[in-house]
Amino acid sequence: MEIQKKHKRVYSFEFFPPKTDEGAEHLRQTRQRLERLNPAYFSVTFGAGGSTQSRTFETVVDIQRSSPAEAAPHLSCIDASREQLKEMIQRYRDEGVSYIVALRGDQPSGSGSKGLGELRYANELVELIREVSGEHFTVEVGAYPEFHPEAPDAITDIENFVRKAKAGADSAITQFFYNEACYYRFVEDCERRGVDIPIVPGIMPIMNYEQQARFAAGCKADIPRWLAKRMEAWEHDPRSQIEYGIDVVTELCQNLLDNGAPGIHFYALNKAPIIERIWHNLGLSKETGGEVRSPDEIELPV
Ligand code: FAD
Repeated sequence: MEIQKKHKRVYSFEFFPPKTDEGAEHLRQTRQRLERLNPAYFSVTFGAGGSTQSRTFETVVDIQRSSPAEAAPHLSCIDASREQLKEMIQRYRDEGVSYIVALRGDQPSGSGSKGLGELRYANELVELIREVSGEHFTVEVGAYPEFHPEAPDAITDIENFVRKAKAGADSAITQFFYNEACYYRFVEDCERRGVDIPIVPGIMPIMNYEQQARFAAGCKADIPRWLAKRMEAWEHDPRSQIEYGIDVVTELCQNLLDNGAPGIHFYALNKAPIIERIWHNLGLSKETGGEVRSPDEIELPV
């Protein structure tokens, strides 16, 4: 973790593009609340295929034009040609966007799309971004401390991550995890292979346990048995689930930061209150110069 400790800490929040006008208004309100915390950027996810791509663009443009924080579009190469990707990169550049989260992406299940697949892996997308726009963008990539589900083995996966760093990524954001040891081990393996970019933990606050367990199963992220058992015991007591989840995630973030993590990327799922509580517990506004509501002003969603 020695290299990580040298980086300035960066805090960011991830949203998904809303599907309705009501969802867009809700996201605007969430964003305005989280802006008060003074994050570096808000990232916006991107779905392979179809209309979610234009919604990502619209959401990014809205943030870029009206927020003091930067907008960071996710861009995936799985379902796009080289020319389409170049065009998207240029459109973001024209809008004054300066961050991109560069991913291979996943095909939505049942999409029927085979994907054009001109670029096969995220390292090739990083190369393309550098080729068409030099150093204009701060390029973020994904990292998997519990390893990517398709990787043939752990060491090959680490080597593939190193490839993305060497292709010109500026920083990485991890898949979410609750076992902090996996993060330290992963980072140390990368540092030993010469990776010197920040590897920022991606942290998923527990907002709705059932939904989260399904999501974790889908992306093969581990929910430790002790945590799953507690949450299952409170199946009909969402307040206990949420309060316990806030404690667990606060402690996880505190330990990561104390051990040298270069910031936190929160998977915000378009909701503010639980993140505000965790942020308050961690006292992060002192570091970012932001303001956060006091716990009695934050209404939890139960
Ligand atoms: P890659 O780095 O390309 O890796 C994919 C697999 O291929 C891995 O198993 C890796 O070991 C292997 N590999 C990589 N490079 C090579 C190579 N050169 N040769 C051989 N094998 C290689 N998905 C979305 O669809 N939209 C999003 O908005 C989105 N946001 C995300 C944000 C974060 C922070 C993270 C961590 C993930 C996100 N994902 C998103 C999920 C991500 O797209 C999937 O996990 C996807 O399966 C892999 O994407 P990647 O960029 O990590 O791929």
